[in-house]
Amino acid sequence: MEGKAHPTMAHYAYAVGARDATNGGGWELQLVKAGKVTASADFPAAEGPAELEAFFAAMDAGESWLLSKALLHATPLTYRCLCQGCLRVPRFKARPQIDILDVADYVQCECGGQLCDCPSCMATADLLEAGVRDHEQLSVASPMTNWTANGGAA
Ligand SMILES: [Zn+2]
Ligand SMILES: [Zn+2]
Repeated sequence: MEGKAHPTMAHYAYAVGARDATNGGGWELQLVKAGKVTASADFPAAEGPAELEAFFAAMDAGESWLLSKALLHATPLTYRCLCQGCLRVPRFKARPQIDILDVADYVQCECGGQLCDCPSCMATADLLEAGVRDHEQLSVASPMTNWTANGGAA
């Protein structure tokens, strides 16, 4: 994961910090994107062996998150989403998964919109990729003159 080979990965990091004992103890995992904490999860634990276990659980979750970010940029890209904002249809290697955090928070388009893979959105994506630009036929709010999978609607 050298920064040069994977320039996009430089934007992602995670941090594990100790939680206050009065607050349940254990650890807090913070997911950091471009220097900002985008999500966090608590791993409370009592002092002792459980504390160490919770620490490794938090680290594992952080590593999984980084790995899933790497998958987002890997090939072959067989899995699709539709952005609810710009109507981009980004392709991924696999359905991004993370079990401790909200998928909606985690799967975000570069425009800030939420990515969705429900059947209705996939039907819209199929139409867009097939060349349909009529927004009523596509069941989207605004008319468009142009659309590309990587750039969305314009
Ligand atoms: Zn978007
Ligand atoms: Zn949807």
